[in-house]
Amino acid sequence: MIRQFELVEAVKAYDPHADEAALNRAYIFTVKAHGGQQRGSGDPYFAHPIEVAGILTRYKLDGDTIVTALLHDTVEDTLATLEDIEKNFGKDVSRLVDGVTKLSQIELQSDATKQAENFRKLVLAMSEDIRVLLVKLADRLHNMRTLAGIAKPEKRARIARETMEIYAPLAERIGMHDLQIELEDLAFAELNPEARDSILKRLEFLREKGGTLVPRIIRALKRTLTKAGIEAEPSGREKNPYSVWRKMQVKNVGFEQLSDIMAFRIVVANEVDCYHALGIIHANYPVVPGRFKDYISLPKPNGYRSLHTAVYGPENQRIEVQIRTREMHEIAEAGVAAHWAYKQSLSRRGPGKKGVATDGKKYRWLRELLDILDHAAGPEEFLEHTKLEMFKDQVFAFTPAGDLIALPHGSSPVDFAYAVHSEIGDTCVGAKVNGRMVPLRSILQNGDQVEIITSKAQTPSPEWERFVVTGKARTRIRRFIRLAQRDQYAGLGRAMLEKAFVRAGSAFAVKAVNRVCKTFHADTVEDLFAAVGDGTLPAGEVVNAVLPGAKTATGKGGKIVPLPRRRKGTGGDDAIPIKGLIRGMAVHFAGCCHPLPGDRIVGIIVTGKGVTIHTIDCETLESFSSQPERWLDVAWDKQSDGGHVARISVIVANEPGSLGDLSTVIGRNDGNISNLKFTSRSEDFFEMTVDIEVRDVKHLTDIIAALRANPLINSVRRARG
Ligand code: MN
Repeated sequence: MIRQFELVEAVKAYDPHADEAALNRAYIFTVKAHGGQQRGSGDPYFAHPIEVAGILTRYKLDGDTIVTALLHDTVEDTLATLEDIEKNFGKDVSRLVDGVTKLSQIELQSDATKQAENFRKLVLAMSEDIRVLLVKLADRLHNMRTLAGIAKPEKRARIARETMEIYAPLAERIGMHDLQIELEDLAFAELNPEARDSILKRLEFLREKGGTLVPRIIRALKRTLTKAGIEAEPSGREKNPYSVWRKMQVKNVGFEQLSDIMAFRIVVANEVDCYHALGIIHANYPVVPGRFKDYISLPKPNGYRSLHTAVYGPENQRIEVQIRTREMHEIAEAGVAAHWAYKQSLSRRGPGKKGVATDGKKYRWLRELLDILDHAAGPEEFLEHTKLEMFKDQVFAFTPAGDLIALPHGSSPVDFAYAVHSEIGDTCVGAKVNGRMVPLRSILQNGDQVEIITSKAQTPSPEWERFVVTGKARTRIRRFIRLAQRDQYAGLGRAMLEKAFVRAGSAFAVKAVNRVCKTFHADTVEDLFAAVGDGTLPAGEVVNAVLPGAKTATGKGGKIVPLPRRRKGTGGDDAIPIKGLIRGMAVHFAGCCHPLPGDRIVGIIVTGKGVTIHTIDCETLESFSSQPERWLDVAWDKQSDGGHVARISVIVANEPGSLGDLSTVIGRNDGNISNLKFTSRSEDFFEMTVDIEVRDVKHLTDIIAALRANPLINSVRRARG
């Protein structure tokens, strides 16, 4: 384990301005916080964060990152809180620790490899500051190095798989080549030890067989370059077992057929020397066609720059050669981390630039990454880049089974439900996010685990359309509403036609109506019913078409038939029940008279909009007296759905406490005031209208009676018209 002063010295070596005191405090904080906790191996737990910090010093990361590494498990695994961390180490560190903690709380729960890409995006999206990701990668590296400490083989396998599918590709994505290679090798050793061993043995055999071959080639390359006046440091490197294995899988070839196992790297002083060295190599050795790549003028999206070529080398062996500068080399190994450290050291050198460096510190990481990505070469790389940008507008949530669902930002549980399955969306009644019930209109956050509660009785609600953001959810909801509306109109239209036929002295027969569909350009009899129901086609016209010359109430027969007086006592056996009709669709309640269940009501057909329900004594009805064909006999369905708004007008004494009494009485009687408006105010009295949500007319009558019993309330009556 790295000792306290060693860690501090390591940081000071590359960053003399680092906050030494903070590093010391963080070291002690983590040792104290983790106290007697142990790792699976029996080692003290605090050894882990300290090693993680050590790994990050290798990349010359800033003090805040090292402090974050030391503290990265304290919030999740000890009594320490984010507040403690902010108090002791400041906002930046607490934000970074929070980011790492959140990353640690998500894990790939399902084995589906197809989820891996989404999961990687989730991790990137959650790493708002790239340093969060760097700490997480170092954390994972140390966990992989100490994987043997975990007793359960399934758990080891899961961690190794996750490393292979998620973290190694992420390390690659941000250009941390050496970290990627080590993660892959450790995971490979866990997942497929036999394959790894046999490849290692083969590599060793080749090395022995080659004897001094590699050193001989290195010497020859150096000689060739020196002769041309280029100062260079060639080195030989061996392919690692996992990349050999992957090549064997991808190319579907045996070990013997892999030609480019011998690879050499030439590090030169500057960019010009790179091309110069390339020319010398190509001039002295036969080139293997099709292998030359210039990643200097067209860097890889992760920032990697180098010249690649393959030649038949000094010993007539086919060899791969990479040529790069020292800086390119550091970036190739450490990726974003090196890039950043390098730039930082540059800005420190210029004294005038220091202020700029500090100001931009907060966002520089992201900018750096995006800068690198901006240099994407081909359309394919650009696409990769765009994808990286795009997922910033996405949110990733889990199903209880651990499947990852990608949604646009601002998505609700309803969007989630529809993304899982249309059926689940159609029948969702509630949602639990991270184990807690939440409203369906809540906004999901990255990493949320969402459980959708469904009911067979549920259908999509028109309300949902107001907050869903995915096209799939919106389309399904609209389609449902359209169909439901049509069904309702059709039901209503059929009932209206039945009555119209009876009034015309004839029996209603679907067959007969079916025959006149064409006359009204209706494809089906249901369409015809719907047209009658939504008021675009008067029932009388259909009756006329079926029974030419019949006496109907349309006025077309030449005579307006006034409504019989007895109709005003509505709700008879032939009344159409407002049953299962969804409010806001085919049936609307009039704003003038606020009908309540229990009130005697009548429906007025409004062309194209369905039916408006008025109380039978509503003054508005006067204006429809000359249009009897628009009147519809309706009755309340036995089961009322509650939540109707009633309007009362009240006069109360202008005295302290009178308004309080008003609301107390209404509340005590289970009513809910939804609106209150003063209509006049005098020295002695307030006059106002109050909207109250009630169950039915009986409920309202009870409230009115209770209000009248109050001495401060002068008069109460139901408001009409
Ligand atoms: Mn950890």
